[in-house]
Amino acid sequence: MDAHKLPKEDKTLMTHELLNEAYKRLTLDSRRDPMHELISTMLSHRTNHADEEKAYYTMLERFGDWEGVMNADVDELADAVQTTRYPLQKAPQIQQTLRIIKEERGEININFLKDMPVEEAMDWLTKLPGVGLKTATLLLLFNFKKPVLPVDTHVFRVSQRVGLIGAKVTANKAHDLLLRMLPPDAVELFNFHKHLFWHGQRICTFFSPKCGECVLNSICNYYQDVREKGIDLAA
Ligand code: SF4
Repeated sequence: MDAHKLPKEDKTLMTHELLNEAYKRLTLDSRRDPMHELISTMLSHRTNHADEEKAYYTMLERFGDWEGVMNADVDELADAVQTTRYPLQKAPQIQQTLRIIKEERGEININFLKDMPVEEAMDWLTKLPGVGLKTATLLLLFNFKKPVLPVDTHVFRVSQRVGLIGAKVTANKAHDLLLRMLPPDAVELFNFHKHLFWHGQRICTFFSPKCGECVLNSICNYYQDVREKGIDLAA
């Protein structure tokens, strides 16, 4: 059987192995404090990393700490995070999130998620305003080493082109489907996420993917389709 016609489960594991070889394996160490990760991820929606960081530090410099951010005038908070997209939407969502955490936990701290079962932690997080599946999975995987898979635009695009998920699958559904085919281990999932993310940024780009230099081309539906149609990607 041609490699690209293998069952999705086999292709997913092959993709994982091939990208493990192509990119170095990473250890999973928390990069930021969980509250920092949560609010930064909310700020990062449709915003590049430099602008997100600028907003994050401007906000904390201006209002001092999370209590200060929570009690700030909402227009002033929107002004502090204006380097991000949709500051008028993000400012009230951040304040509401901080209020919910404070009311429920008595302090603005989410370290309790470490001891919460995965499903419960996912439910709790995704009920917060402005927190979707991607933010929740990033936080739970990166900070608490829970076995979940963040599916961002790069992970989604590469998975769809290679054929690990169907063409009509949504990003939310992709999370469940990919998770079921991968080892239920946080370090494996972290590597899969990071490798697909890098691959999408560097090789399998939105426009003009560099299929000729891609280690996945022998199993990739998109590449095989294009070849069958006689299209020269280098042209
Ligand atoms: S072969 Fe091309 S389309 Fe397929 S994963 Fe590689 S770069 Fe993307």
